[in-house]
Amino acid sequence: MLFSSRGPHGFGAQAWISIVLLMQVAVALRWFFGPLPVKRDFIAYAIFGDAGTASVLMLYSPFGALVGSSLFALTGGLCIFFVSQKWMLAHLALCCSFIAAMTVRNLLGGDEDAPTVLATSLVIFAATAVVPLLAHIAWTAIGRDARRSLLDPLTNLLNRRGLDDAAEALWHRGHGRGFSLTVLVVDIDRFKVVNDYYGHDSGDAVIVRVADRLSMLFQEDGVVARTGGEEFIAVFAAPDAMVHERIDDVVNTLNNSSDPIPITVSVGACVLASPSSLWVDGPSVINKAGRIADSMMYRAKLDGGNRSSTTKL
Ligand code: GH3
Ligand code: MG
Ligand code: MG
Repeated sequence: MLFSSRGPHGFGAQAWISIVLLMQVAVALRWFFGPLPVKRDFIAYAIFGDAGTASVLMLYSPFGALVGSSLFALTGGLCIFFVSQKWMLAHLALCCSFIAAMTVRNLLGGDEDAPTVLATSLVIFAATAVVPLLAHIAWTAIGRDARRSLLDPLTNLLNRRGLDDAAEALWHRGHGRGFSLTVLVVDIDRFKVVNDYYGHDSGDAVIVRVADRLSMLFQEDGVVARTGGEEFIAVFAAPDAMVHERIDDVVNTLNNSSDPIPITVSVGACVLASPSSLWVDGPSVINKAGRIADSMMYRAKLDGGNRSSTTKL
């Protein structure tokens, strides 16, 4: 369009468009050869795309600028998947205002008749604003479902699938800081009796109470999941010297005689000390530690329950 009669006139306008084009080439090269973009890069790219497109189109003839507004569909496509709702709305506000301004500019002083201008702006509005908006709504709903599939509906804790992802992230954090990583399996003792005596709903309330207390205990440095009916797994990264105290905290916090339905738990723990050669196995070592913690939990249960049993890997 630089060389078209609808394109920019004058040295200043042509120079600016050339600069924006060169910047686009630089950004494209960065995307192809640079590190994978993160969320901040996508936001920066959307701002650059919208501001660059608007500043260039303003230098075109009124109808050329209106037709060129369809370029906003490109940044819209990016916003559908990679930015938050807030940024998507900001993009749509800019794009709709620009299309509206170009429509008015055409109606007041363009070469095309009013029906042509209105029909063109309607088509461009649909393609650049309505389609990305609908796609963004669908994408957000899919994302919400995906996140929900990682949670246990009764307690809102992670389920086993959610735990795998979260524990992997924790492994990376603990690895970098030289902490030891501990996997705990927590099982409520004689829970069947709670159900039989107080009813299933009261049993549910006990499960939720245990979940809330475990979440509180590990909110700073760990993750907690409900992996079975009355069974939980917690993984936490902490300095070696703190580990035993933290495990005792679990047994003591959950056994509170002033609770409406007091319970006790058996806890099995497997500690991955740091430094340890096992860390080089990567996050999969957490699954191995989980199986060992499970057998330690059974040992605690065989010893009478209301206690923990710990081993080091
Ligand atoms: P142990 O001391 O050996 O752990 O015995 P236990 O009774 O705790 O364990 P067992 O595995 O025999 O029974 C677990 C019970 O948990 C059986 C099941 O009805 C109950 N349960 C499982 N999921 C839920 C749930 O979501 N809500 C309620 N209320 N009960 C559940
Ligand atoms: Mg049990
Ligand atoms: Mg059990």
